[in-house]
Amino acid sequence: MRLQDKVILITGGASGIGLASVERCLAEGARVAMADLAGSAGAEKAAELDKQYAGRCIFTAVDVTSTEQVNQMVTDVVAKFGRLDGVFNNAGIGGINPADSYPDEDFLRIIDVNLNGVFRVARAALKPMYAQGSGSIVNCASILGVFGQSGTAAYTAAKGGVVNLTRTLALEGAAKGVRVNAIGPGYIDTPLLSLLDDATKQFLIGLHPLGRLGRPEEVANAALFLMSDEASFITGANLMVDGGFTAG
Ligand code: NAD
Repeated sequence: MRLQDKVILITGGASGIGLASVERCLAEGARVAMADLAGSAGAEKAAELDKQYAGRCIFTAVDVTSTEQVNQMVTDVVAKFGRLDGVFNNAGIGGINPADSYPDEDFLRIIDVNLNGVFRVARAALKPMYAQGSGSIVNCASILGVFGQSGTAAYTAAKGGVVNLTRTLALEGAAKGVRVNAIGPGYIDTPLLSLLDDATKQFLIGLHPLGRLGRPEEVANAALFLMSDEASFITGANLMVDGGFTAG
């Protein structure tokens, strides 16, 4: 079991990549807190998984745009499981608008969830991790953290921020036993892609040398690896999980 006895927190855990990660981490022996918006399908799914995995899964309601809720989430997870070994900072939203007419509210919301949310969760998690002298944080960036794409000014700004935030967190955490890495998924077949029409999806598939969309569990496997001790000498990295998208 690659995560035996580890306590893992996964934000955005109710859907897509997050849900696949919850399931993979449970299968590898972790105790897992699935964190997502109150009212998401997460509570019900976590209860099912908790039965299947003998009391190793909880749901914790959080909106990552609230510092208070994020701090409370980390406090609750540590109170429940006694420690915090891994965090997959995965909650995120999309949005498409041309830059010259991007509404303030939409732009700021995407930055608040996708960048500020990652920072809030990492800041809260660093406290128990520094106290125990170990931990691994994985921040979900994107191919759009290193590439631009028309219509995605807010998303690309946020994801680019996540990549470089990760490097600084890695430098600060290194002396305290905490590793921090990012992952950069290509286009992955999740509900997030409902923003795109079929012609756009076909076009985007063509940009992946492997010739298809990624599957949520393929990203989950990368997050799992980085949170496991197998990645003990990896920090500050941005691991692309993109079917070769950024190779060319
Ligand atoms: P998804 O829509 O299936 O899941 C996202 C989850 O985040 C949802 O369960 C949602 O409720 C939750 N969430 C949204 N706002 C939140 C908030 N304020 N607080 C807490 N939870 C919140 O999407 P996904 O495709 O699984 O995306 C997961 C991550 O992967 C995101 O960070 C996304 O940007 C990134 N990503 C996805 C793709 C892709 O092609 N699907 C590509 C690159 C990166």
